[in-house]
Amino acid sequence: MSEPGFGVYVHWPFCAAKCPYCDFNSHVRHMGWDEPRFLAAFRREIAHMAGLAPGRTVSSIFIGGGTPSLMLPETVAGILDAIGGCWSVDQGVEVTLEANPTSVEADRFRGYRAAGVNRVSLGVQSLQPDDLARLGRLHTVDEALSAVALAQSIFPRISFDLIYARPGQTPEAWREELGRAIAYGTEHLSLYQLTIEEGTPYYEMHRAGKIRTPDQATARALWDATQETCEAAGLPAYEISNHARAGAESRHNLVYWRYGEYAGVGPGAHGRLVVDGVRRELATERNPELWASAVEADGSGLVMDAGLSQEAQGDEFLVMGLRLKEGIDLARFHRLSGRRIDERRIDDLVMDGMVERLGRDRLRVTPEGFPVLDAVVADLAS
Ligand code: SF4
Repeated sequence: MSEPGFGVYVHWPFCAAKCPYCDFNSHVRHMGWDEPRFLAAFRREIAHMAGLAPGRTVSSIFIGGGTPSLMLPETVAGILDAIGGCWSVDQGVEVTLEANPTSVEADRFRGYRAAGVNRVSLGVQSLQPDDLARLGRLHTVDEALSAVALAQSIFPRISFDLIYARPGQTPEAWREELGRAIAYGTEHLSLYQLTIEEGTPYYEMHRAGKIRTPDQATARALWDATQETCEAAGLPAYEISNHARAGAESRHNLVYWRYGEYAGVGPGAHGRLVVDGVRRELATERNPELWASAVEADGSGLVMDAGLSQEAQGDEFLVMGLRLKEGIDLARFHRLSGRRIDERRIDDLVMDGMVERLGRDRLRVTPEGFPVLDAVVADLAS
């Protein structure tokens, strides 16, 4: 398997409106924000992280959010310059920016490309007008499709996201919608089941019985429809929710799933850095203005910087690696965690068809096991 590489994640925290299902660290500021101030803070925190993890070669950069496509292209260019000034950057670096497909943001695509972005991930979410409105999205289906076409003409690589298992969605309707999406041509698709997260308006509506998510059997049929449709189109899953043509996988997300090293910059960003031989867990202040003030005072907005125990590293490695179709290296699990997975547990899960061995040292979850991945991971980790 390839080395995970070293990634830099940059979190842009603002959105034009808050979607009712969203529990990401995203904030609405009707009076706008001080973009030069945030760029200066990004620069300082990038320098701080490079001080903790010097000498790395950056293989991927991911600017996520929030809605990074609300940023001016000059801000994106400033962030990328700062990264290039603090670390060496691999010649083939993947630079992804998340974008919402409204026409306003699409107008900025050329500027992002000139700044060095070579991959966009578009939050299309649905090709059904009613569902887009229910999801609180600000774009129309036509705008989304125009943005996809424009992005394809500007960026070497694009991905788009769709949400399924939406209230009332049938497997037949989803097959048709997904097929239509694939027909627009993409090398990478992120397909997430709608989840009801505590603290969101959807959570309250769900509790009040105002929205109903599919029952277990329908959710399973939607999952099967997803796998069959994508495989038939040459976009098999390489991770539980991500599908790609061979070679078009998200290199940045593979850093996480292969348990590599990455710096997290910006409000509420997380990182995993190896400092003096110890793998550390880092996280920054979530509130954007408090984060910027902390960076101005101390050089970073870190609110967490602690060494991870071997047990925690083992658990994280399982949680991340078993999402991948390529599975995990059992010898690396042993090196990280200092323990071995109980062979009898593995044998039981093999017998149940939930996992399979690939040679002596690799283990992966089967297509039957993926719909119950959390239970499989819990079983192996215990
Ligand atoms: S655009 Fe994305 S990050 Fe912003 S509120 Fe909606 S789902 Fe959350």
